[in-house]
Amino acid sequence: MEAAARQELAAILKLTREYLGALTEDGVTRVDVSLEAAARLGAKSKPAAANRGQSVSATSLRPSARQPAVTPLPSRAAPRPTAPPPGAARPGVPAPSLPEPAAPGDPAVVGLRRIASVVARCAKCPLHKERMRTVPGQGNSHPEILFVGEGPGADEDRQGVPFVGEAGQLLTKMIEAMGLTRDDVFLTNIVKCRPPANRTPAPDEIAACLPYLHEQVALLQPKVIVALGAVASQGLLGVDTRIGELRGQWRQFGAIDVMPTYHPAHLLRLQAAKHEAWADLQSVLKRLGRTAPPRREARA
Ligand code: SF4
Repeated sequence: MEAAARQELAAILKLTREYLGALTEDGVTRVDVSLEAAARLGAKSKPAAANRGQSVSATSLRPSARQPAVTPLPSRAAPRPTAPPPGAARPGVPAPSLPEPAAPGDPAVVGLRRIASVVARCAKCPLHKERMRTVPGQGNSHPEILFVGEGPGADEDRQGVPFVGEAGQLLTKMIEAMGLTRDDVFLTNIVKCRPPANRTPAPDEIAACLPYLHEQVALLQPKVIVALGAVASQGLLGVDTRIGELRGQWRQFGAIDVMPTYHPAHLLRLQAAKHEAWADLQSVLKRLGRTAPPRREARA
């Protein structure tokens, strides 16, 4: 192999290693390369091959290498002016899933970030194989309410943020109907990686991931946990009772009150269950000494 070609190959390998390192740091563990992207990469590489022997700008290769279906990341090879502070949004990367510290060195935030970092590298169960991003959780580090769902879906897997898909938008509306915002509560799931094709997580996957939730609960110390759906409720409470029987009944997780209710994805399919879910959330508000603000229709 000619020396120039060897240098070119070494430059490409170096960039690839740096790029994959950046992805790993951002919690990405799987990169999909579509046939179209592969074809584009092939097309881009042809001129380089034709120019073999000439100096090839490594930088010119980077954008095409970044086109596969992952969120763009800032260049690792290009000089970075200053490293962003921990938790700060990077250009082109979704906002971090964890809260900014309420106070410098807030142990809850430090602990939540440590869990997120461990989860990002976790391979304790088969769900790590197909995830794009881990979804440790998002919200207030000292919430009154912790919402626990089943697992990330496709949107959450892409963004690394819980409850951002259609069901998540409904949950956001429900939280707002309670007179709160997503920043007032903490949102997470029983499993932190997306089950393929949104299947129900298997018992051994739930068992492998539960210690992370237990740690989060210990750090967050919420007054109430709202368990969304059968999987979250059964996983948290260690029971196999149907959600239809569990919902609306106060339970305990250690010293913390737990209100099981329907998952918002279920409410999207079965509108009639919405009034039961709303009754459960009103029960939560009552336990916290809060009342829901007047409904918008009532004010009109
Ligand atoms: S689902 Fe939980 S236990 Fe399984 S790989 Fe992801 S973080 Fe680890």
